[in-house]
Amino acid sequence: MSQSSDSNAIRVLQYLLWPAIFFGGLTAAGMAFEAAHPVFWFNVVYLTTVAIIALFERLLPYETSWLEPDGETFNNLAHTLLTKGLVQVAASLAASGPMLIAAHVQPISARFSTLWPDFLPLPVQVVLALIIAELGLYAAHRIAHERLYFWRFHALHHSVTRLWVINTGRFHLFDSLFKIALSQIPLYLLGAPLPVFLWVAAITAIAGLLTHCNIAMRTGLLDYIFVTPRLHRWHHSRNRREGNTNYCENIVLWDQVFGSYHNPDRPSPVDIGINGRVAPGFLGQLLQPFSRRGRQELMGRKPAPLPPVTQAAAPVEDQAAQM
Ligand SMILES: [Zn+2]
Ligand SMILES: [Zn+2]
Repeated sequence: MSQSSDSNAIRVLQYLLWPAIFFGGLTAAGMAFEAAHPVFWFNVVYLTTVAIIALFERLLPYETSWLEPDGETFNNLAHTLLTKGLVQVAASLAASGPMLIAAHVQPISARFSTLWPDFLPLPVQVVLALIIAELGLYAAHRIAHERLYFWRFHALHHSVTRLWVINTGRFHLFDSLFKIALSQIPLYLLGAPLPVFLWVAAITAIAGLLTHCNIAMRTGLLDYIFVTPRLHRWHHSRNRREGNTNYCENIVLWDQVFGSYHNPDRPSPVDIGINGRVAPGFLGQLLQPFSRRGRQELMGRKPAPLPPVTQAAAPVEDQAAQM
């Protein structure tokens, strides 16, 4: 094959990868939902998608230097298991935590609310739920960037200097719970049925893997509908003017509505991260937002010198009030 037909084939592949992985993953998720153990089979689909994305990150990286280990892989996986798989950590399977929560809470909430338009075809209900959940995700994410009180938890997600599929679940537990609450509670209050929750969780899980991947994809018009890796790289920019944009997670609707959509006509940045410093270990990262010194490090301020050992430390409440 000639060089130009080679490059044409790669170009076509770059255009096909996002829709193939996204819609392929959702088709497989649909099959999982029909199976006897839907959550188990969804986890199989999720982990297979991770493996496919990881393979293409090696074959077709967006930024070659992001293939180098940064010492954070264990921490990324540990945060993923804690936040996404909270209710099934023992099974060591991530991503379906929100599904399991919905499986237990939805039958109760559905008894009290009949507002949900369950007479509509399921795909229409899923799109409606996605738009409602996305508004909660948008609000939680924007608050996390614009309010220092919440940034202390969200900074962990932005602290990495390389983007790849394994960063997807790197969220502080409190950051994740805040997001799940704002995006799912409206659906519970409206009485949405369980299949709708499962589909919204599946779409968010697969889209999340793609937004963080280090693959040189071409997403073109998809950038105006879905949150693509290109859009999310702007969000991870070290430059806060660029980073405080593109807050949506699945569809870009609310960024468009509220004016935070950012997609300039140039390659998306590779200088990503925060100016502050994140604690080195998993437990240190979990506890960092709760100490004054930890918060100062996260914000990039010079921490105050530690008090002498003989002097009693100020109570935690006092420290929080000074923040
Ligand atoms: Zn963010
Ligand atoms: Zn991200």
